[in-house]
Amino acid sequence: MITDGPRLRPDLAALPSYKAGQRPAPRTDITTYKISSNESHFAPLDSVQAAIIAAATEINRYPDPFSTELVAAIAHHFGVPAEHISLGTGSVALCGQIIQSAAGPGDKIMYAWRSFESYPIWTGIAGAQSIQIPLKPDETHDLDAMLHAITPETRVIFVCSPNNPTGQIVDPGELEDFIASVPSEIVIVLDEAYIEYVPEEKRSDSIRLYRENSNVVVLRTFSKAYGLAGLRVGFTISQEPITNALRKTALPFGVSSIAQAAAIASINAESELFERVASVTAERNRVSSELIEMGYQLNPSFANFVWLRLGLRTDVLHQALEQAGLSVRPFPEEGLRISIGEREANNRFIEVARQVSIESDVLR
Ligand SMILES: *Cc1c(COP(=O)(O)O)cnc(C)c1O
Repeated sequence: MITDGPRLRPDLAALPSYKAGQRPAPRTDITTYKISSNESHFAPLDSVQAAIIAAATEINRYPDPFSTELVAAIAHHFGVPAEHISLGTGSVALCGQIIQSAAGPGDKIMYAWRSFESYPIWTGIAGAQSIQIPLKPDETHDLDAMLHAITPETRVIFVCSPNNPTGQIVDPGELEDFIASVPSEIVIVLDEAYIEYVPEEKRSDSIRLYRENSNVVVLRTFSKAYGLAGLRVGFTISQEPITNALRKTALPFGVSSIAQAAAIASINAESELFERVASVTAERNRVSSELIEMGYQLNPSFANFVWLRLGLRTDVLHQALEQAGLSVRPFPEEGLRISIGEREANNRFIEVARQVSIESDVLR
């Protein structure tokens, strides 16, 4: 028998690969900045570093597979039962577990588009089909269109608020009506990776929504506001049926002992971390106002990044930013997502955006 090597699933070839934010090219003439992945630009707090170092002395052992202490800390923090928490190696892994828990070939996963690029990848890996509902012109979710697109095959709906990469939130009242209208057999994921950057009065009460709805999953991460992107830990809050499924589909020992310790230390240091969040949101607002003053069109961002929908002119600003040592996240012919970083990085971004607005047709 003649073979051409290993026989792999042909449908995987059609899957997009995850495009991680790039690091800037090394330069000797200027300081470069990575503002492409919505990370925290702050180094870990001393208390968190100390917890990491202490945990490092025991890495000859497997981690606690149930992350008992971290689960208890999260449960206490949100005032929910420990049985309602599941942990994952980043919330991106939990996105995949949710899909694998609810859907397979022939099923459909719905989400706004453009949104988090993990959704189509996990959907494809599960052999399910994506239903992408275009964002409204103001970059917010079109919840009415999503409702109308539901079919008997729909298994999971992702609602990303604030939305990556557009930075817009879903109105709390509209979300509540939406959840009430979606059949309760469909899992609704509230992806709140950036929720800490939203003013409190604008946030949905997602904890109440999960309490009142057995099909709602609240998805959170330690990667952004808590500054632990490198350690890979995220969590869900949902009632038992979903939580139990997520615990089953989890990678055994996936969340390392170091990640567990660092996450607990971060919960304990939350007030310090939220001061950092406040400084990022202040910078975000400053950057946004400057851009608007120059004539850029943008909607106020509710996350730790700004989104410029530049369409075919995306490349002009992208090239100029790269030249200036700023690595941002381009979506070719669509727009640029620029993370809020160090003050120097933000200032340089503003200056480059200004130069480009004067010297090119970026503003048309
Ligand atoms: C960054 C991000 C996450 C979190 O990813 P981790 O795997 O927890 O690092 C989840 N959802 C969205 C929309 C994000 O942008």
